[in-house]
Amino acid sequence: MTMRGLMQDRPLTVPTLLSRAETSFGHKRVITGGTSDTVATWADVAPRVRRLAHALDALGVPPGACVGTFAWNSQRHVELYLGIPSSGRVLHTVNHRLHGEQITFIVNDAADEVLFVDRTILPVVWPLVASFGSVRHVVVMDDGGDMPIPDDPRILDYEELLGDQTDRPIATDVRDENTAASLCYTSGTTGNPKGVLYSHRSVVLHSLLLLGADVFALSEQDVVAPIVPMFHVNAWGLPYAAMQCGADLVLPGPATSAEELVSLLARHRVTFTAAVATVWRDMVPSLRGHDLSSMRHIACGGGAVDDALSRRYEEAIGIPLTNAWGMTETSPVVTTSRLGTQHRDLAGEARRLLLGSPGPAVPLTEIRVVSDDGAEQPRDGTSPGELQVAGATIASGYFGADPGTDSFTADGWLRTGDVATIDQWGYLRIVDRTKDLVKSGGEWISSVQLENAIMADPRVKEAAVIGIVDPRWGERPVACVVPTAGATLTPEDVREHLRDRVASWWIPERIELMSEIPKTATGKWSKQALRQQFVGAQPEPSRE
Ligand code: AMP
Repeated sequence: MTMRGLMQDRPLTVPTLLSRAETSFGHKRVITGGTSDTVATWADVAPRVRRLAHALDALGVPPGACVGTFAWNSQRHVELYLGIPSSGRVLHTVNHRLHGEQITFIVNDAADEVLFVDRTILPVVWPLVASFGSVRHVVVMDDGGDMPIPDDPRILDYEELLGDQTDRPIATDVRDENTAASLCYTSGTTGNPKGVLYSHRSVVLHSLLLLGADVFALSEQDVVAPIVPMFHVNAWGLPYAAMQCGADLVLPGPATSAEELVSLLARHRVTFTAAVATVWRDMVPSLRGHDLSSMRHIACGGGAVDDALSRRYEEAIGIPLTNAWGMTETSPVVTTSRLGTQHRDLAGEARRLLLGSPGPAVPLTEIRVVSDDGAEQPRDGTSPGELQVAGATIASGYFGADPGTDSFTADGWLRTGDVATIDQWGYLRIVDRTKDLVKSGGEWISSVQLENAIMADPRVKEAAVIGIVDPRWGERPVACVVPTAGATLTPEDVREHLRDRVASWWIPERIELMSEIPKTATGKWSKQALRQQFVGAQPEPSRE
């Protein structure tokens, strides 16, 4: 017979984050950029969160109902991150960069009752409102947008809504830590988007993980700027992590151009920031004009770090980019790059490359790679297989119309669709997405490695590789390449550059020079759009 422990059984819930921010860090700041910076403290924010919770009561939103947000990273969005889950509702962040049809699908699938919309995003949302079956109110948050507010009884004003309430304690406190806290749909490159439903427990555990010294080492000393959007995977949980540790939080608001972002980071002496590679690439030309000497950690996630880009950061501000691997389904952080004791002697490019790869799993999560026949691959750094993940911060199923049961193994691990290796120290390397691998003459070509080899050329700004059907080889890679501003580059130059970098049979015969690579709603390269553009009527590779 086992013996029960005698520790307090206190639920891990979002209200504990609110209380910690207010009682321990009431003086610490939440700053929102925009035409002018808005500075508030947690002591200012917490009463507004309570007013928001009461406003939801007044609107008759029942416990467990989904409340949608269409908002930039801002103080008001932080208030929604706290007020909606703390009062027992489900915070549903929606990515306004998705296609209208996808947005309609997502809002209806979640049956959102109320939407909170930044005025700058209203032009995207309002024309779709007629297609939202369950939405009763649209609450506008005035962030300086200029769209006239529609004269419609469903429209409410955020500040008026809060002004009508008092800041008495929230009555509908959440007791069960497994209650749903928030919802985010995966971008869904094929099929309909699938809902990932985070629990209070997973939100709190994930925010604690990020503080780990070998993860992001976030502390009260930090000034944290999540550039990763709060409408996609909860800005990696960074707003919640800042509440846990008392770091100042700096949010860009609607000011998301490269120049505005660099200026924001410099102006507030930011120490930690996170974004996808596209954002870091766009910022390069602005780096020199600003003092970023306060920065200690730049996380680049959502995709591979290309070394040429990381080198530019190391040269300009003294630190390379670091990497993290994760998915919407994984809260998202599962691995973060770090130098282990075994990497003590690494320097220069080798050190940068290590920091630019995903690294080992964070606490409470497990990773494994599995071959096509279902066997777990050895941890030797050279045996690729499908990456599978498990842990308390990983989805166990999907919410909504599409249960996506194929995405889970019989023993409950999440199948990621990424192809990866794990080395003897547990360090993960992503080889490719299953569907993005190019199979040429029976051998695999990693589109990620080929892209990185192409982007190592300073004349190249961006490169994306897709596979097209080839009568002789099955598939061949096509490289879509964007030259750096002012550079002259021919397809033959690209091939010449690749000659001593990759196997000769990897070198694409077809290289398309273009002015921009189409991006997905989350800033990643849209290989689907590229395939449509270049493959045309050709049959898609069979794995699609
Ligand atoms: P999303 O759910 O939209 O955040 O997309 C998750 C996918 O992004 C993963 O399955 C990977 O294919 C990709 N991804 C995320 N992080 C990395 C990384 N560090 N390296 C390579 N691919 C990544």
